[in-house]
Amino acid sequence: MRLENKIAVITGAGSGMGKEEAVRFAKEGAIVVATDIDYEAVKSVEEQIKANGGKALALKHDVSSKEDWEQVFTKTIDAFTNLDILVNNAGISLPKPFMEQTEQDWAKAYQINVNSVMFGMQLAVPYMEKNNGGSIVNISSISALIGMAGAGAYTASKGAVRSISKAAAVDFGKKNIRVNSVHPGYIVTPMSAASMEDPKYKEYFLSQVALPNLGNAEEVANAVLFLASDEASHITGIELPVDGGVTAK
Ligand code: NAP
Repeated sequence: MRLENKIAVITGAGSGMGKEEAVRFAKEGAIVVATDIDYEAVKSVEEQIKANGGKALALKHDVSSKEDWEQVFTKTIDAFTNLDILVNNAGISLPKPFMEQTEQDWAKAYQINVNSVMFGMQLAVPYMEKNNGGSIVNISSISALIGMAGAGAYTASKGAVRSISKAAAVDFGKKNIRVNSVHPGYIVTPMSAASMEDPKYKEYFLSQVALPNLGNAEEVANAVLFLASDEASHITGIELPVDGGVTAK
């Protein structure tokens, strides 16, 4: 198995890509600490993993709270001793025209999409260092790579995720801690389904993708799994689009 006995914390694991990553990682032998602001959702992911013979622990976690992060790692180490993998997946989209965005929108995007990644990495690194290394995968977006209309605070927050991932890759490389970012494109999940499956907009999204279909959560989870695993042992500081060729155009 590709992640045998690795201890992996995955945020936003109650829905969409995070849920798919949790289930996939567990199938590959990882012990998954699945966290989400929605405890009921993540508890059902824990139950699904256990029903399939895997190991998981669900924790309620608001990623914008440093105190919550401290508790997540304390509980992870108490239960499983080590930390090998962190996937900073939880995030929100803020679909609002740039000129209508408020200071509050900007602050919210940063608190949930960026502070989360900073807290998670700051608190994970000492545990990974004790463990002689680890792998961190931060979920950004293609909006950090190309200009996307109307993305405003979201695009800025995902751009920050891209650049702090590279900086952390340089800072922690000698400790054998790898840090990479994944950049999903048009992926149908509960976050995006209302617009991406709406016949009014679907043709537009499809026209942006080079491949025949929009993406799904499993396709992103496959990329995250690779970067999290030892198969990517010489890969750090990269930005991996999972976008069906949107950014190739
Ligand atoms: P999703 O289905 O909405 O899942 C995100 C999960 O994160 C939800 O369970 C959500 O809970 C949770 N969450 C929200 N705020 C949180 C907080 N403060 N603390 C902890 N958990 C929180 O979204 P997704 O599409 O899988 O997105 C996953 C990641 O990919 C996000 O970072 C997103 O920005 C990024 N992304 C998505 C797309 C796309 O096309 N879908 C494209 C590019 C990048 P609630 O449902 O209760 O809010």
